[in-house]
Amino acid sequence: DHAINQIAAGEVIERPASVVKELVENALDAGAARIAVSTAAGGKTLIRVDDDGCGIPGEQLALAVERHCTSKLSEDDLFDIRSLGFRGEALPSIGAIARLAMTSRHATEPHAWTMRVEGGRKDGPAPASHAGGTQVEVRDLFFATPARLKFLKSDRAEGAAVTDVVRRLALANPSVRFELSGSDRQTTTYAAASGERALEARIAQVMGTDFVENARPVDAEREGVRLHGLAGLPTFHKANSLSQFFFVNGRPVRDKLLMSALRGAYADVLARDRHPVSVLFIELDPRQVDVNVHPAKADVRFRDAQLVRGLIVGGLRQVFAEAGH
Ligand code: ADP
Ligand code: MG
Repeated sequence: DHAINQIAAGEVIERPASVVKELVENALDAGAARIAVSTAAGGKTLIRVDDDGCGIPGEQLALAVERHCTSKLSEDDLFDIRSLGFRGEALPSIGAIARLAMTSRHATEPHAWTMRVEGGRKDGPAPASHAGGTQVEVRDLFFATPARLKFLKSDRAEGAAVTDVVRRLALANPSVRFELSGSDRQTTTYAAASGERALEARIAQVMGTDFVENARPVDAEREGVRLHGLAGLPTFHKANSLSQFFFVNGRPVRDKLLMSALRGAYADVLARDRHPVSVLFIELDPRQVDVNVHPAKADVRFRDAQLVRGLIVGGLRQVFAEAGH
């Protein structure tokens, strides 16, 4: 089982940022309103995620770190995946390759419980003191698989990838307060945004007000597929390709088709060595998209890829034309 978990970890956990993604998604699934992420050495030596979500009862804490033990998947749910986690692979994978400690307090419990898994060896659950919600600590990522450790980039690069993941999840969840801190970085806080303009407020927090001032709202629909968000004007661009944010049914994705459609939309209005800046949300019937392509879940497969491509290219070109580009 430990060997299987180590292999699965290779699929799910590539780097500190993958751990942060899995842990923050778990916190979101637990209904957290506040999530705090803390790292050291770009997340290589420490990743800590604290949430104020529902918590885990003591007897379920031991199960949570077992393979394929998820509280989230029901039989006819496979094509209608609302919660972010649905494989029950993240925690056992992390426990197989790092030092994992989970401390959690569920409302039905008189006190918290804590559980440790280090290189697959389990310890606990034992009574602990914790105010509420869940705290997960991951230390020394890949200490149990030194070969994988060598593939990590510099602390700075890994730390930047962590920042990128938190920004994406923060954009997807404007009503949740996020804090990102650590000995390796300055503290960033995104206050909870609410009301009708919550998304705009969060976009301004994450992307900066200069982006919002140099972007136009997008809202287009084709055959039940909706595209909305903010597209930076062609005059507002970056020299790198890290500023294009896509979300499909509320989950952050990094998808080749979407990126290529975006390049197509900007092709005639943007200099060739420049990159657009955009935050775009696609909403469609969950049966029209497969988010289950890869365990890391960043890729998606659309049933009608041409429709989605046409919507992006058409929708954005209309916005640029109206803005005089
Ligand atoms: P998945 O998210 O796919 O279900 P995980 O391995 O990420 O699998 O988590 C296993 C289980 O542990 C979850 O289904 C959930 O019941 C519980 N869990 C994990 N993290 C949290 C958290 N922060 N708050 C509450 N429950 C959690
Ligand atoms: Mg999960």
